[in-house]
Amino acid sequence: MDRIPAQQIDSEDVDSRVFNLYEKKEKIYIRKMEGLFQTLRQYTGWPLLLGYFLAPWLQIEGRQAILFDLPERKFHIFWLTLWPQDFVLLMWTLAIAAFALFFVTNLLGRVWCGYTCPQTIWTAIFMWAEQITEGERHQRIALDQTPSLFRREGRNRAGWNKVWKRGLKHGMWFGFAALTGVTFIGYFYGIRELIGDALAWQLPLTASSWSLFFTLATYINAGWMREHVCIYMCPYARFQSAMFDQDTLIISYDTARGEPRGSRRRNADHKAAGLGDCIDCTMCVQVCPTGIDIRDGLQYECIGCAHCIDACDSVMDKMGYPRGLVSYTTQNKLAGGSWTWKRPRLLGYGAALLVMLLLFAGVLLTRTPLRLDVIRDRGQLYQPVAGGLIENVFTLKIINMARTEQQYTLSVEGLPAPRLVPDVPVSVPAGEIVQTIVRVQVDPDRLADFNTAFDFVLESAAVDGADALRVSTQSRYFGPRPLAR
Ligand code: SF4
Ligand code: SF4
Repeated sequence: MDRIPAQQIDSEDVDSRVFNLYEKKEKIYIRKMEGLFQTLRQYTGWPLLLGYFLAPWLQIEGRQAILFDLPERKFHIFWLTLWPQDFVLLMWTLAIAAFALFFVTNLLGRVWCGYTCPQTIWTAIFMWAEQITEGERHQRIALDQTPSLFRREGRNRAGWNKVWKRGLKHGMWFGFAALTGVTFIGYFYGIRELIGDALAWQLPLTASSWSLFFTLATYINAGWMREHVCIYMCPYARFQSAMFDQDTLIISYDTARGEPRGSRRRNADHKAAGLGDCIDCTMCVQVCPTGIDIRDGLQYECIGCAHCIDACDSVMDKMGYPRGLVSYTTQNKLAGGSWTWKRPRLLGYGAALLVMLLLFAGVLLTRTPLRLDVIRDRGQLYQPVAGGLIENVFTLKIINMARTEQQYTLSVEGLPAPRLVPDVPVSVPAGEIVQTIVRVQVDPDRLADFNTAFDFVLESAAVDGADALRVSTQSRYFGPRPLAR
């Protein structure tokens, strides 16, 4: 199938070539490339990789520093513990992440895809394993063409060579995938407990199945699917163009400088021969992980990895031409204009991001690590008790989200001379929920109505540097109708 640049696809181009769903995809053999941007990728990739693998081993206050404890419904993120009641914070985080992505994409194009996306980083590791086991591009092509041991003509030294190289590669892939899968589940199960239980053959089926699932997902995504994930599965590739404008950083081939392309001798005067700077060596295509030709223009398959820039710069160096035939640029610059930050979309995304960050910080800083849920006894509205009083029964759920044990005193506001039974402070350990039954008794003659709104108030004193806390939850008190008294 001929590849058609995305910006050239219009109604006239939509023909059977584009919608051939059963096209056999050619395998991409990527040429190894070194250069400025590949070095830059190492500076972004290694900290992310190390962070991913090492973070679950960090301990804070005797627990895993980052632990998404689903059975307990608590998310520990360093010193912060989030509860289901903090769901709004999760929504804020997702919204901030989305607007940060919009802002960065508008400014720097697909820098996320090229330098920080896990799919890109993990695929790079898998490609490295492929290169050290099966060799360079030409060696991998030759190895693929070697007949398999399952065929008569493959039962020779070359056939066995293929088997052990492939075996070693898949062993490395699977090992790294297993490390990834186990680490991922370690964020939910506790990495030390996971490994301890696995070594003792006591790992629950759910934990072992999910570890295996994520191992296989990593092995398949980074080892086998690679660019297909970016091209066919990732939604971000599809809607990124909505965030682009004329000043977004893109990787582009300088057509005016490069064309007409053609081969030539190194010291030949190509301009006199009517040629541009592109020597048509296809190095930029051979290093491209998605198998596209950047000279065809901006394409949605381009993940912004800058392999083609490094490849072309090395060719330009060898030819003695200036670098930058393929480079980071903008559509405005390509059209002869200059870059500007005064763009409505960039400023809009930036302003929205700033407002969200400020609101998020406000919510986080004013968050009260205490919650009180009140449930009325559904069996009886009220009941008479000794002394001519009536009683309503409530179940209180007290959630101590602080990192220390707390003593809370309970009171009631909005009822005439209420009596609480029991009327003693409630002690709740750090990060625990205590459920208690409280009876509220009042004199019915002092109630103005049969249905009175009132507040339960829970307070803790300032102890050991912790702030004094106060939360209140509204409920309703029922008594006899005034006529019935
Ligand atoms: S065209 Fe260049 S930047 Fe885009 S994916 Fe291919 S090598 Fe990477
Ligand atoms: S690497 Fe540069 S010179 Fe070679 S084909 Fe690509 S754009 Fe042309």
